[in-house]
Amino acid sequence: MALIVQKYGGTSVGSVERIQNVARRIAKFKSQGHDLVVVVSAMSGETNRLVALANDVSGGNPNPREMDVVLSTGEQVTIGLLAMALDAIGVPAKSYTGWQVAVKTDSAHTKARIETIDDAAMRADLKDGKVVIVAGFQGIDGVGDITTLGRGGSDTSAVALAAALKADECQIYTDVDGVYTTDPRIVPEARRLDKITFEEMLELASLGSKVLQIRSVEFAGKYRVRLRVLSSLEEDGGGGTLITFEEDEQMERVQVSGIACDKNQARINVRGVPDKPGIAFQILGAVADANIEVDMIIQNVGAEGTTDFSFTVPRGDYNNALKILNEVKEKIGAAEVSGDDTVAKVSIVGAGMRSHVGTASTMFRALAEEGINIQMISTSEIKVSVLIAEKYTELATRVLHAAFGLEKA
Ligand code: ASP
Ligand code: MG
Repeated sequence: MALIVQKYGGTSVGSVERIQNVARRIAKFKSQGHDLVVVVSAMSGETNRLVALANDVSGGNPNPREMDVVLSTGEQVTIGLLAMALDAIGVPAKSYTGWQVAVKTDSAHTKARIETIDDAAMRADLKDGKVVIVAGFQGIDGVGDITTLGRGGSDTSAVALAAALKADECQIYTDVDGVYTTDPRIVPEARRLDKITFEEMLELASLGSKVLQIRSVEFAGKYRVRLRVLSSLEEDGGGGTLITFEEDEQMERVQVSGIACDKNQARINVRGVPDKPGIAFQILGAVADANIEVDMIIQNVGAEGTTDFSFTVPRGDYNNALKILNEVKEKIGAAEVSGDDTVAKVSIVGAGMRSHVGTASTMFRALAEEGINIQMISTSEIKVSVLIAEKYTELATRVLHAAFGLEKA
C-alpha cells in the first residue's frame, strides 16, 4: 500500500465519458489499497477559452489579479465533476480548490510560485478512506488572493503535493504514453523510454519537449519526487516513463537518450564590435533589460581590435531585439547588426555523454553528410545543441536519431 499522487491533464478530463473513465481508474487503484491524491487540469480547451474571454473584455490587457480569478475556474469545475463521478460509483471523494488546501504561493499573478502546502486537511481525509481531489494550477497568496502557476502548471501542483505529502510516487497521466526519444510526428521510429534521468528530463523540458512543465521537473529534482509519465488513454497507462535519480549501468551505455528541436529561435549578429572589457555586458545587458531571454551566445576571438558577437533570442522577441541592438550599435561603435529568424535549434541529450568521447563529432559528421550547415554550437555536460536553418529541422532530427541508433532499444 502506497500513497500516490496522480495528475490527469485536460484531454484526460475533456468530456463526461473521460471523467468517468478517470473515476474508474481511480477506483481500481483505490481497491488495491492505495491512498490517492488526484490533481486535475481544466477540461481541454477551457483555459484557452478563458484567456480569450479575458482578452476580449479587457481590450487585450487583463488585470492580472482578475485574470487569475477567471483562469482558476476551469479547474474548479473538473474537481467537482470528478468527485461526483467517483461518488456515483461508490468511491468516497472530496474536492479541494488550491486555496482550500491551502497551496500558498507568492503574489506573481499568472506565474506564481508555490511556497508552502498545508497537508493537514488532506491527511485527515485520506485517513477517513477518501480520495482527495485537488485543483491543479492554482493557489492563494499571502493576502488571500487567488493565484495561478503559469500554463501547464497542474504538473507542478501535482509534484509539489507529492513532495509535501512525501508520496511514494507522482504519476502524471497525459495523452502521450511517456517520454520519447524524439517527437514521433517527426521521426516515426521514435521510441518510448522506460527510464530517463532527472537531469536529462530537465534538459529535454527546457529544450521544448512539452511533456511536462519544466518547473514540475525542477521541483521533482529539488525534493527528489519519484515521477512517472503515463498514458491516460491506455488501460494500464502504457508502461510510461520513469524519471529516475540513479543512472544505472544500462543507461550509462547509451550516449544519447533523446533529441529535441525548437523552432522558436532567432539569431542576432553584431559585427565589428570594439574588442574591450564590458562589451558583452553592454550588448546583452540591454537585451536583458527588455526582459528578452538570451539562449546561445558566441563571441569570437578578436582580431585587429574588433570582434563579432552572436546570440539567439525567442522568435517573438526578434524585432524588438534588433531595434535595441541598433541603438546599442551606435553607442559602442559596432560596424553592423544583422540577424535571421528562420533558424532552429536541434539538441542531443544524454547522461551517457559524460563517459563517452566523440559524441559531438558523431553529431557534426551526421549533419555534414546531409549538407546541413551549423551556424552556432553550444554544449553542456549532457547536451550538444546546434543552430541550423529552420528548413532542415526535421531532416536533422531524423539523421541524428539514426546516427545514435535511437530506434533500437
Ligand atoms: N489548465 C491550465 C492550462 O491549460 C493548467 C494545466 O493544464 O496544467 O495551462
Ligand atoms: Mg499539460
